[in-house]
Amino acid sequence: MYDIVVIGGGPAGLTAAIYACRAGKSVLVIEKNAFGGQITWSPRVENFPGYLSITGAELGDKLLEQAMEQGGEVELEEVTGIAPLDGVWQIVCESGATFTAGAVILAAGAKPRMLGIEREEELVGSGVCYCAVCDGAFYAGKPVAVCGGGNSALQDALLLSERCSKVFLVHRRDSFRGEQKLVDALKKRENVEFVLNAQIKALLGEEEVSGLLVSQNGAERALAVEGVFVAIGHQPDLGVFAPYLTLSDAGYAASDERCLTPTPGLFVAGDCREKQVRQLTTATADGAVAAVAALSYLEKH
Ligand code: NAP
Repeated sequence: MYDIVVIGGGPAGLTAAIYACRAGKSVLVIEKNAFGGQITWSPRVENFPGYLSITGAELGDKLLEQAMEQGGEVELEEVTGIAPLDGVWQIVCESGATFTAGAVILAAGAKPRMLGIEREEELVGSGVCYCAVCDGAFYAGKPVAVCGGGNSALQDALLLSERCSKVFLVHRRDSFRGEQKLVDALKKRENVEFVLNAQIKALLGEEEVSGLLVSQNGAERALAVEGVFVAIGHQPDLGVFAPYLTLSDAGYAASDERCLTPTPGLFVAGDCREKQVRQLTTATADGAVAAVAALSYLEKH
Protein backbone atom coordinates (compact mmCIF):
# COMPACT_ATOMS: atom_id res chain seq x y z
CA MET A 1 0.00 0.00 0.00
CA TYR A 2 1.19 3.53 -0.84
CA ASP A 3 0.57 6.63 1.26
CA ILE A 4 -0.43 8.53 -1.86
CA VAL A 5 -1.29 7.47 -5.40
CA VAL A 6 -1.17 10.30 -7.94
CA ILE A 7 -3.24 9.74 -11.08
CA GLY A 8 -1.63 11.64 -13.96
CA GLY A 9 2.07 12.21 -14.62
CA GLY A 10 2.00 15.76 -15.97
CA PRO A 11 3.48 18.83 -14.24
CA ALA A 12 0.74 18.86 -11.56
CA GLY A 13 1.03 15.17 -10.71
CA LEU A 14 4.83 15.07 -10.74
CA THR A 15 5.05 18.19 -8.57
CA ALA A 16 2.60 16.63 -6.10
CA ALA A 17 4.86 13.55 -6.02
CA ILE A 18 7.98 15.66 -5.38
CA TYR A 19 6.33 17.41 -2.42
CA ALA A 20 4.82 14.23 -0.92
CA CYS A 21 8.08 12.28 -1.28
CA ARG A 22 10.04 15.05 0.41
CA ALA A 23 7.60 14.74 3.34
CA GLY A 24 8.68 11.11 3.66
CA LYS A 25 5.59 9.51 2.10
CA SER A 26 5.50 6.55 -0.27
CA VAL A 27 4.15 7.77 -3.60
CA LEU A 28 3.13 6.08 -6.83
CA VAL A 29 2.40 8.15 -9.96
CA ILE A 30 0.24 6.41 -12.57
CA GLU A 31 0.29 7.83 -16.12
CA LYS A 32 -1.55 6.43 -19.13
CA ASN A 33 0.30 8.09 -22.03
CA ALA A 34 3.52 10.00 -21.55
CA PHE A 35 5.08 11.31 -18.36
CA GLY A 36 5.26 15.09 -18.65
CA GLY A 37 1.66 15.35 -19.91
CA GLN A 38 0.47 17.88 -22.49
CA ILE A 39 3.61 20.00 -22.21
CA THR A 40 5.59 17.15 -23.75
CA TRP A 41 4.19 18.22 -27.14
CA SER A 42 5.12 21.89 -26.79
CA PRO A 43 8.13 22.63 -29.02
CA ARG A 44 9.36 25.50 -26.87
CA VAL A 45 8.40 26.72 -23.40
CA GLU A 46 9.48 30.27 -22.60
CA ASN A 47 7.16 31.12 -19.71
CA PHE A 48 8.20 28.67 -17.03
CA PRO A 49 10.21 30.61 -14.44
CA GLY A 50 13.85 29.65 -14.28
CA TYR A 51 14.13 28.58 -17.93
CA LEU A 52 14.68 31.14 -20.68
CA SER A 53 13.69 28.48 -23.18
CA ILE A 54 13.26 24.73 -22.93
CA THR A 55 11.43 22.14 -25.00
CA GLY A 56 8.31 20.71 -23.37
CA ALA A 57 9.74 17.20 -23.71
CA GLU A 58 12.92 18.19 -21.87
CA LEU A 59 10.95 19.89 -19.11
CA GLY A 60 8.71 16.81 -18.77
CA ASP A 61 11.79 14.57 -18.52
CA LYS A 62 13.30 16.80 -15.84
CA LEU A 63 10.09 16.74 -13.77
CA LEU A 64 9.93 12.95 -14.02
CA GLU A 65 13.60 12.60 -13.09
CA GLN A 66 13.09 14.91 -10.10
CA ALA A 67 10.04 12.99 -8.85
CA MET A 68 11.90 9.66 -9.14
CA GLU A 69 15.06 11.09 -7.58
CA GLN A 70 12.94 12.01 -4.55
CA GLY A 71 11.73 8.41 -4.30
CA GLY A 72 8.52 8.50 -6.33
CA GLU A 73 7.54 5.28 -8.08
CA VAL A 74 5.90 5.36 -11.49
CA GLU A 75 3.66 3.05 -13.51
CA LEU A 76 2.48 3.37 -17.11
CA GLU A 77 -1.13 2.22 -16.73
CA GLU A 78 -4.62 3.50 -17.46
CA VAL A 79 -6.75 3.87 -14.32
CA THR A 80 -10.28 2.59 -14.97
CA GLY A 81 -11.73 3.01 -11.50
CA ILE A 82 -11.16 4.14 -7.94
CA ALA A 83 -13.13 3.39 -4.77
CA PRO A 84 -12.69 4.16 -1.09
CA LEU A 85 -13.01 1.00 1.04
CA ASP A 86 -12.71 1.25 4.83
CA GLY A 87 -10.53 4.36 4.58
CA VAL A 88 -8.24 2.88 1.92
CA TRP A 89 -8.45 3.83 -1.74
CA GLN A 90 -8.49 0.99 -4.27
CA ILE A 91 -7.15 1.99 -7.68
CA VAL A 92 -7.91 -0.37 -10.55
CA CYS A 93 -6.13 -0.24 -13.92
CA GLU A 94 -7.11 -1.45 -17.38
CA SER A 95 -4.43 -4.16 -17.28
CA GLY A 96 -6.04 -5.60 -14.15
CA ALA A 97 -3.33 -4.20 -11.88
CA THR A 98 -4.65 -2.78 -8.61
CA PHE A 99 -3.04 -0.46 -6.10
CA THR A 100 -4.07 0.81 -2.69
CA ALA A 101 -3.40 4.16 -1.06
CA GLY A 102 -4.32 6.28 1.93
CA ALA A 103 -5.01 9.26 -0.31
CA VAL A 104 -5.41 9.91 -4.03
CA ILE A 105 -4.41 13.02 -5.95
CA LEU A 106 -6.20 13.31 -9.25
CA ALA A 107 -4.07 15.19 -11.78
CA ALA A 108 -5.50 13.62 -14.91
CA GLY A 109 -5.13 16.69 -17.16
CA ALA A 110 -7.25 17.11 -20.24
CA LYS A 111 -7.52 15.67 -23.75
CA PRO A 112 -7.62 17.61 -27.06
CA ARG A 113 -11.02 19.12 -27.89
CA MET A 114 -12.43 17.97 -31.22
CA LEU A 115 -14.06 20.22 -33.83
CA GLY A 116 -17.18 18.10 -33.75
CA ILE A 117 -17.69 18.08 -37.53
CA GLU A 118 -18.68 15.14 -39.71
CA ARG A 119 -16.03 12.47 -40.45
CA GLU A 120 -13.51 14.07 -38.03
CA GLU A 121 -13.04 10.84 -36.08
CA GLU A 122 -12.96 8.71 -39.24
CA LEU A 123 -10.13 10.84 -40.71
CA VAL A 124 -7.90 10.95 -37.64
CA GLY A 125 -4.49 9.86 -38.90
CA SER A 126 -5.59 10.43 -42.52
CA GLY A 127 -5.27 14.20 -42.47
CA VAL A 128 -6.86 15.09 -39.15
CA CYS A 129 -4.25 15.59 -36.41
CA TYR A 130 -4.14 16.98 -32.87
CA CYS A 131 -0.38 17.20 -32.36
CA ALA A 132 1.93 19.12 -34.70
CA VAL A 133 5.08 17.96 -32.89
CA CYS A 134 4.06 14.32 -33.31
CA ASP A 135 2.60 14.37 -36.82
CA GLY A 136 4.04 17.47 -38.52
CA ALA A 137 6.83 15.53 -40.28
CA PHE A 138 4.24 13.54 -42.28
CA TYR A 139 3.20 16.79 -43.97
CA ALA A 140 6.65 18.11 -44.96
CA GLY A 141 6.39 20.05 -48.23
CA LYS A 142 2.57 19.87 -48.18
CA PRO A 143 -0.11 22.50 -47.52
CA VAL A 144 -1.84 22.25 -44.15
CA ALA A 145 -4.23 24.17 -41.92
CA VAL A 146 -4.11 24.84 -38.20
CA CYS A 147 -7.36 25.60 -36.40
CA GLY A 148 -7.44 27.67 -33.21
CA GLY A 149 -6.35 30.99 -31.77
CA GLY A 150 -4.56 30.08 -28.52
CA ASN A 151 -0.87 29.53 -27.83
CA SER A 152 -1.07 25.91 -28.98
CA ALA A 153 -2.44 26.86 -32.42
CA LEU A 154 0.09 29.69 -32.81
CA GLN A 155 2.99 27.46 -31.82
CA ASP A 156 1.76 24.67 -34.09
CA ALA A 157 1.48 27.10 -37.02
CA LEU A 158 5.03 28.36 -36.41
CA LEU A 159 6.41 24.83 -36.23
CA LEU A 160 4.55 23.65 -39.34
CA SER A 161 5.55 26.74 -41.35
CA GLU A 162 9.14 25.55 -41.07
CA ARG A 163 8.46 22.34 -42.98
CA CYS A 164 5.11 22.67 -44.82
CA SER A 165 4.65 24.45 -48.14
CA LYS A 166 1.74 26.53 -46.84
CA VAL A 167 -0.01 26.98 -43.50
CA PHE A 168 -3.53 28.40 -43.25
CA LEU A 169 -4.27 29.52 -39.70
CA VAL A 170 -8.04 29.26 -39.35
CA HIS A 171 -9.49 31.09 -36.35
CA ARG A 172 -13.10 31.86 -35.52
CA ARG A 173 -12.46 35.45 -34.41
CA ASP A 174 -10.38 38.36 -35.74
CA SER A 175 -8.01 38.47 -32.78
CA PHE A 176 -5.98 35.82 -31.04
CA ARG A 177 -6.13 34.59 -27.46
CA GLY A 178 -2.47 33.51 -27.68
CA GLU A 179 0.61 35.67 -27.13
CA GLN A 180 1.19 38.69 -29.39
CA LYS A 181 4.86 37.69 -29.72
CA LEU A 182 3.82 34.47 -31.46
CA VAL A 183 1.32 36.32 -33.70
CA ASP A 184 4.06 38.77 -34.73
CA ALA A 185 6.43 35.90 -35.55
CA LEU A 186 3.74 34.28 -37.72
CA LYS A 187 3.07 37.52 -39.61
CA LYS A 188 6.69 37.42 -40.77
CA ARG A 189 6.36 33.95 -42.30
CA GLU A 190 5.63 34.21 -46.03
CA ASN A 191 3.96 30.80 -46.23
CA VAL A 192 1.45 31.55 -43.44
CA GLU A 193 -2.00 32.91 -44.26
CA PHE A 194 -4.43 34.00 -41.55
CA VAL A 195 -8.02 32.92 -42.26
CA LEU A 196 -9.92 34.90 -39.63
CA ASN A 197 -13.59 35.03 -38.64
CA ALA A 198 -13.71 31.55 -40.10
CA GLN A 199 -15.13 28.19 -39.07
CA ILE A 200 -14.28 24.82 -40.58
CA LYS A 201 -17.57 23.39 -41.87
CA ALA A 202 -16.47 20.21 -43.65
CA LEU A 203 -13.51 17.96 -44.37
CA LEU A 204 -13.02 17.34 -48.11
CA GLY A 205 -11.55 14.15 -49.58
CA GLU A 206 -12.63 10.52 -49.49
CA GLU A 207 -10.10 8.37 -47.61
CA GLU A 208 -7.69 11.19 -46.88
CA VAL A 209 -8.17 14.90 -46.32
CA SER A 210 -7.70 16.89 -49.53
CA GLY A 211 -9.19 20.16 -48.37
CA LEU A 212 -11.42 22.07 -46.01
CA LEU A 213 -14.67 23.88 -46.53
CA VAL A 214 -14.56 27.03 -44.44
CA SER A 215 -17.23 29.63 -43.82
CA GLN A 216 -15.70 33.08 -43.54
CA ASN A 217 -17.64 36.30 -43.00
CA GLY A 218 -20.80 34.66 -44.31
CA ALA A 219 -19.18 33.25 -47.47
CA GLU A 220 -17.89 29.74 -48.17
CA ARG A 221 -14.29 29.11 -49.15
CA ALA A 222 -12.37 25.91 -49.95
CA LEU A 223 -8.79 25.52 -48.70
CA ALA A 224 -6.64 22.95 -50.52
CA VAL A 225 -4.75 21.22 -47.69
CA GLU A 226 -3.61 17.68 -47.00
CA GLY A 227 -3.71 17.98 -43.24
CA VAL A 228 -5.57 19.91 -40.58
CA PHE A 229 -4.09 20.34 -37.12
CA VAL A 230 -6.84 20.96 -34.61
CA ALA A 231 -5.60 23.04 -31.66
CA ILE A 232 -8.77 24.39 -30.07
CA GLY A 233 -8.01 23.64 -26.46
CA HIS A 234 -8.51 20.69 -24.23
CA GLN A 235 -11.26 19.17 -22.14
CA PRO A 236 -11.10 17.00 -19.05
CA ASP A 237 -11.92 13.31 -19.11
CA LEU A 238 -13.04 12.57 -15.56
CA GLY A 239 -15.90 10.17 -16.27
CA VAL A 240 -14.59 7.24 -14.22
CA PHE A 241 -13.94 9.52 -11.23
CA ALA A 242 -17.28 11.34 -11.44
CA PRO A 243 -18.97 9.57 -8.48
CA TYR A 244 -16.46 11.17 -6.11
CA LEU A 245 -16.34 14.66 -7.65
CA THR A 246 -18.53 17.67 -8.30
CA LEU A 247 -18.12 18.37 -12.01
CA SER A 248 -18.74 21.75 -13.67
CA ASP A 249 -20.90 21.96 -16.83
CA ALA A 250 -17.66 21.74 -18.84
CA GLY A 251 -16.60 18.62 -16.94
CA TYR A 252 -13.90 20.10 -14.67
CA ALA A 253 -13.59 19.00 -11.03
CA ALA A 254 -14.71 21.63 -8.53
CA SER A 255 -12.48 22.15 -5.52
CA ASP A 256 -11.54 24.88 -3.08
CA GLU A 257 -8.17 26.56 -3.10
CA ARG A 258 -6.74 23.69 -1.01
CA CYS A 259 -7.52 21.32 -3.91
CA LEU A 260 -10.03 19.36 -1.81
CA THR A 261 -12.89 17.47 -3.47
CA PRO A 262 -16.20 16.56 -1.79
CA THR A 263 -14.74 13.11 -1.03
CA PRO A 264 -12.33 12.85 1.94
CA GLY A 265 -8.94 11.59 0.88
CA LEU A 266 -9.38 12.61 -2.77
CA PHE A 267 -7.61 15.74 -4.03
CA VAL A 268 -7.49 17.35 -7.47
CA ALA A 269 -4.71 19.29 -9.20
CA GLY A 270 -3.83 20.79 -12.57
CA ASP A 271 -5.80 21.23 -15.77
CA CYS A 272 -8.65 18.89 -14.76
CA ARG A 273 -9.51 21.24 -11.88
CA GLU A 274 -12.12 23.99 -12.32
CA LYS A 275 -10.13 27.27 -12.34
CA GLN A 276 -9.45 30.44 -14.30
CA VAL A 277 -5.86 30.02 -15.45
CA ARG A 278 -4.49 26.78 -16.87
CA GLN A 279 -0.75 27.20 -17.25
CA LEU A 280 2.33 25.16 -16.38
CA THR A 281 2.93 27.43 -13.41
CA THR A 282 -0.60 27.01 -12.05
CA ALA A 283 -0.45 23.23 -12.63
CA THR A 284 2.75 22.91 -10.61
CA ALA A 285 1.31 25.22 -7.94
CA ASP A 286 -1.76 22.97 -7.69
CA GLY A 287 0.49 19.94 -7.34
CA ALA A 288 2.21 21.44 -4.31
CA VAL A 289 -1.10 22.56 -2.74
CA ALA A 290 -2.78 19.18 -3.30
CA ALA A 291 0.21 17.34 -1.82
CA VAL A 292 0.18 19.50 1.31
CA ALA A 293 -3.59 18.91 1.68
CA ALA A 294 -3.11 15.15 1.25
CA LEU A 295 -0.31 15.13 3.84
CA SER A 296 -2.54 16.94 6.31
CA TYR A 297 -5.36 14.44 5.62
CA LEU A 298 -3.03 11.46 6.18
CA GLU A 299 -1.84 12.92 9.47
CA LYS A 300 -5.40 12.94 10.79
CA HIS A 301 -6.46 9.49 9.51
P1 NAP B 1 -6.87 27.86 -25.50
O1 NAP B 1 -5.94 28.92 -25.02
O2 NAP B 1 -8.07 27.52 -24.70
O3 NAP B 1 -7.31 28.29 -26.97
C1 NAP B 1 -8.25 27.55 -27.67
C2 NAP B 1 -8.54 28.28 -28.96
O4 NAP B 1 -9.41 27.48 -29.74
C3 NAP B 1 -9.20 29.65 -28.77
O5 NAP B 1 -8.66 30.55 -29.67
C4 NAP B 1 -10.66 29.34 -29.08
O6 NAP B 1 -11.31 30.42 -29.71
C5 NAP B 1 -10.55 28.23 -30.10
N1 NAP B 1 -11.70 27.33 -30.07
C6 NAP B 1 -12.25 26.70 -29.00
N2 NAP B 1 -13.27 25.91 -29.38
C7 NAP B 1 -13.38 26.04 -30.72
C8 NAP B 1 -14.23 25.49 -31.70
N3 NAP B 1 -15.19 24.62 -31.38
N4 NAP B 1 -14.04 25.85 -32.98
C9 NAP B 1 -13.06 26.71 -33.33
N5 NAP B 1 -12.22 27.28 -32.45
C10 NAP B 1 -12.36 26.95 -31.16
O7 NAP B 1 -6.13 26.44 -25.72
P2 NAP B 1 -4.59 26.10 -26.03
O8 NAP B 1 -4.06 26.95 -27.12
O9 NAP B 1 -4.55 24.61 -26.18
O10 NAP B 1 -3.85 26.48 -24.69
C11 NAP B 1 -4.27 25.93 -23.44
C12 NAP B 1 -3.45 26.58 -22.33
O11 NAP B 1 -2.09 26.13 -22.42
C13 NAP B 1 -3.41 28.09 -22.48
O12 NAP B 1 -3.46 28.67 -21.21
C14 NAP B 1 -2.09 28.36 -23.15
O13 NAP B 1 -1.55 29.65 -22.87
C15 NAP B 1 -1.24 27.26 -22.56
N6 NAP B 1 -0.13 26.92 -23.47
C16 NAP B 1 1.13 27.31 -23.10
C17 NAP B 1 2.21 27.01 -23.92
C18 NAP B 1 3.60 27.42 -23.52
O14 NAP B 1 4.45 27.53 -24.33
N7 NAP B 1 3.87 27.65 -22.27
C19 NAP B 1 2.02 26.34 -25.12
C20 NAP B 1 0.73 25.95 -25.48
C21 NAP B 1 -0.34 26.26 -24.64
P3 NAP B 1 -11.71 31.77 -28.90
O15 NAP B 1 -10.45 32.50 -28.67
O16 NAP B 1 -12.66 32.43 -29.83
O17 NAP B 1 -12.38 31.29 -27.63
